[in-house]
Amino acid sequence: MGLLEVKDVNKRFGGLQALGDVNLSVAENTVHAIIGPNGAGKSTLLNCLVGKLIPDTGSVMFAGQSVLGRKPFEINQMGISRVFQTPEIFGDLTVFENMMIPLFAKRDGAFRMHAFEAVTDEADLIDEAERMLAEVNMLEKRDFHAGSLSRGDKRRLEMAMCLIQRPKLLLLDEPTAGMARADTNNTIDLLKEIKSKRDITMCIIEHDMHVVFSLADRITVLAQGTPLVEDTPENIKGHPKVKEAYLGE
Ligand code: ADP
Ligand code: MG
Repeated sequence: MGLLEVKDVNKRFGGLQALGDVNLSVAENTVHAIIGPNGAGKSTLLNCLVGKLIPDTGSVMFAGQSVLGRKPFEINQMGISRVFQTPEIFGDLTVFENMMIPLFAKRDGAFRMHAFEAVTDEADLIDEAERMLAEVNMLEKRDFHAGSLSRGDKRRLEMAMCLIQRPKLLLLDEPTAGMARADTNNTIDLLKEIKSKRDITMCIIEHDMHVVFSLADRITVLAQGTPLVEDTPENIKGHPKVKEAYLGE
């Protein structure tokens, strides 16, 4: 059984079948990419995993528990974090202050993060925030205004804000969209670093085949809301159906 198990998920928007009988199994500690043309249903699928949308039919199981019917913050507590296309950080705050946001949310009881259940001392939380910043090579920019960071550093900060929640599954929706090649390569390196340093599973939606082939252990190709094929990057590259439907060859 995979860490994430999607079974027979269907989602309609009025007359449009955005997802049709989607099955997806993401094995623990792997990077699973979902690719497919615009409008294939990739974001809709991701939204069904985080509680932003509820599938019409089917099941979504995470670590043996159903996510369906749970609110996004509850699913986040279960260990699923999402990285947005545009980094969701607070530009007027410093890098360190941004790191405190998930911690205050915990302290003020807005929601509980399982990561902090064992940690009660504020000094420990500060240590933890600094450790996370160090992990993404941002510690020396601790006191910079987040708004002044480069796009790549904003992404690093956002990743640190995610990682401090100690997610088991990280969902990334086009993390390199709109980035220049250098920032894209930095993001690939960052995700590889994170992958090598901790037990984490990643599910990544990505248009850039260079990113997909650099990171993914498995690839699912989605076309018109339905998985066309799921395989290793090597096999996907040479798959005739994929070439025809997606790579445009
Ligand atoms: P992708 O992320 O693969 O580009 P989406 O999941 O965003 O695709 O969209 C899949 C299809 O569902 C598209 O045809 C899109 O227009 C449609 N769609 C997505 N969200 C909504 C919505 N909230 N209401 C109506 N149609 C939607
Ligand atoms: Mg999308």
